[in-house]
Amino acid sequence: MKKVFLLLSVVALYMACAPSEPTTLNTNQLVEDLKVISSDEMEGRRTGTPGNEKARNYLVERFTAVGATPFQGSYTHEFTFTNRRTQEEMTGVNVIVEVEGMSDSVIVITAHYDHLGKRDSLIFNGADDDASGTAALITLAEYFVKEKPNHTLVFAAFDAEEMGLQGARAFVEDSVFLDKVVLNINMDMISNNDKNELYAAGTYHYPATKPVLESIETGDINLLFGHDTPDLGYNDWTNSSDHGAFHAKGVPFVYFGVEDHPYYHKDTDEFEVVPIEFYKKSVQVILNAILAFDAQ
Ligand SMILES: [Zn+2]
Repeated sequence: MKKVFLLLSVVALYMACAPSEPTTLNTNQLVEDLKVISSDEMEGRRTGTPGNEKARNYLVERFTAVGATPFQGSYTHEFTFTNRRTQEEMTGVNVIVEVEGMSDSVIVITAHYDHLGKRDSLIFNGADDDASGTAALITLAEYFVKEKPNHTLVFAAFDAEEMGLQGARAFVEDSVFLDKVVLNINMDMISNNDKNELYAAGTYHYPATKPVLESIETGDINLLFGHDTPDLGYNDWTNSSDHGAFHAKGVPFVYFGVEDHPYYHKDTDEFEVVPIEFYKKSVQVILNAILAFDAQ
């Protein structure tokens, strides 16, 4: 018994004296979260379905586990909108947490957790679109709970993006809060590319973001600019995801995403086809970008 006590004392003393390890991204948990969010159990996460609710409950559970604070007192934020195709009134639910910084200037980091749902017997699991961004939100929130930011960071998992950026539009309508937002960093499809290419779109509209992005460590990832000029038509991504709602209100954005791949909006966009090493590196690059903007 004495020996055990002695051993414990030595361990405790060592832990008290050892220099603390630098905080790193919890990439194993990142991959696990991607797997769960894009599993058949979530039934494609279409807004208004039980599968979407399951995904939402999982997000609340995970954000709670990593110790992030519910945004304005609540993890969930309901909104209503008119479905553009069917004209029916629908309810969506955003999941939002925050990590308080030194200043009350805010950077809002976003991804959408909804996807296309099921068609007949096919489940559209949307592993890349956008379980990848959603899982990254949790991992990034966990990182900043441990490494306090300068800005207040809001992590928003939006609903009903696939129905026209509805969750993001509802969020930015809260104009009192929006006054404090200096930047939106949106992640939508960040896990699947076979050329190690990740885009940071938006520098055409907000040139001040470019030198910051050029200054970050990107490792093996080729961080590219573009996909944000009006001459590109469909390949102009300015309004292609939730950052479009921020841009419409004049809030600068950086949108991280990969180019379309054969799995895009197909039932083959599955966890099994995600190149895991690329995904981990991609989230690390996005963390480096957030750190660089936070230091501004
Ligand atoms: Zn998407």
